[in-house]
Parts: sequence; structure tokens; C-alpha cells
Amino acid sequence: MPKTFLIDTSRCTACRGCQIACKEWHELPANQTRQRGSHQNPPDLNPNNYKLVRFSEHLDNGVIRWNFFPDQCRHCDVPPCKEMGDVYHEGTIIQDEKTGAVLFTDKTTVFTGEEFEQVREACPYDIPRRDPKTGLLSKCTMCNDRVQKGMLPACVKVCPTGAMNFGERADMLKLAESRLATVKKTWPKAMLADPGDVNVIFLLIDDPENYHTHTVAQAAFGPMTKKQFLATLARPFKAMAKV
Ligand code: SF4
Ligand code: SF4
Repeated sequence: MPKTFLIDTSRCTACRGCQIACKEWHELPANQTRQRGSHQNPPDLNPNNYKLVRFSEHLDNGVIRWNFFPDQCRHCDVPPCKEMGDVYHEGTIIQDEKTGAVLFTDKTTVFTGEEFEQVREACPYDIPRRDPKTGLLSKCTMCNDRVQKGMLPACVKVCPTGAMNFGERADMLKLAESRLATVKKTWPKAMLADPGDVNVIFLLIDDPENYHTHTVAQAAFGPMTKKQFLATLARPFKAMAKV
């Protein structure tokens, strides 16, 4: 069974410790930044931020609600990014058999700009990014190197509130159901986001659209777009052209 995160947003205080721990473990450089009138910084995921705490404000019956969403790759059970990646360059995106971590390898520099856009479009959560300098595709690695040695992912290790949880999938599903039952007493809209499809399960306390646009997979694991389908058909021809 794969490893799974439970991210309990009811416990997140937006301290951003997880975001910083991720940068430290992966030795990712700082981004040049500026005041944009929001605590969300940087404004989006990028090759130097595999993890981003999103801040969202909205009015709910005249009351201001402030939602926090520590965004990252969901390590999908059947990852659409890998399926699309395999159409173009098989084996460049892999899934670790032991942990279930979906990994962009060093070979991802081979993707053309348009092929990368197809991989990004295939992701139901808009996660993949590309480093313009190296050409590498980037995203959360589940800290696979740490997990293989029995350690927690860096973001889970530092979270001071219990919002970030990690372990065996069955244990995390059990914890998710039990936390959901508790949280629903205070937040009746509480729900789990796509628990059957992903190994990073979010417990939300508000409607998904009140966090950000890719909180849940919408038509996510449904049929391919026409463009993606045509790319799949082109695969055997591309292979023939190489021989
Ligand atoms: S969330 Fe996106 S990038 Fe992560 S495994 Fe799923 S499809 Fe791939
Ligand atoms: S470390 Fe925990 S509490 Fe802090 S932002 Fe991340 S998930 Fe939220």
C-alpha cells in the first residue's frame, strides 16, 4: 500500500513552516519577491516552491472567512501526469513502487515546451512546473529520500499543529474519517477532497472553490481532452520515426 498524507486544513494556522521546510530540504533558492497585499508568497507554485500555502479571503453571509490551503502534488494513485508523460517519453515520470511517490526524473529535460504543457494540462490540480534554466519538470517528491529511510517528509516533520499527517494509507484514511466526523460538528460543510484517487488527502472545512481553483479534481480523472487523445494516437508514429 502507498504512503499517504492527510492535510487537515481545520488545524492549519498558515505559519508556512511546511513551505520553508520543503525549500530547506530540497535546497531550493529564495524567490525575488514584493508586497502584493497578501500573505500568500510567492503568488503561485514555481520550480523553487514545491509547496505553497495559499490564502483565500471571501465573504460568507457578511462574515469574512480566511482559508488556508497548503498546496502540493497529490501523488495520484493513477497519475495522469505520468500517463501523459509516457505518451511522449516513457519512463521520464515514474511512480515509486514502495511509497507510491510520483517522481519527475532528471530525464524530464527531454520534453518540448508543448509536451510539457500537455503534462501540466493532464494534471487535475495544476501542479507541474518547469525550471526555465535547466528544463527540469518540478513538483513535490514526497521527500521520497527521507521516507525510504523511515523518516517523515520535511513538511510533516515541522508542522506544529497536527495539520500535516503522513503514514500508511489505511491509517491515514481511518484518521481522515475520524477527523471529518469531529470537524463536521463545527463546520457542517467539511469534506475530504478526492480521497479515493489521491495519496494527499485534504480535509476541507469550506466549499472547495473558497480555497482556490484546483482544490478538487473537477473533471479530473474523467475522459482525456481531444488534444490529449490525439497525442496518444500519435505515440506509435513517433516511435516508428525513431527506428
Ligand atoms: S497531482 Fe498532478 S503532478 Fe501530482 S501525481 Fe497527480 S497528476 Fe501528477
Ligand atoms: S506547517 Fe502546518 S500549520 Fe503551518 S502552514 Fe504548514 S500545514 Fe499549516
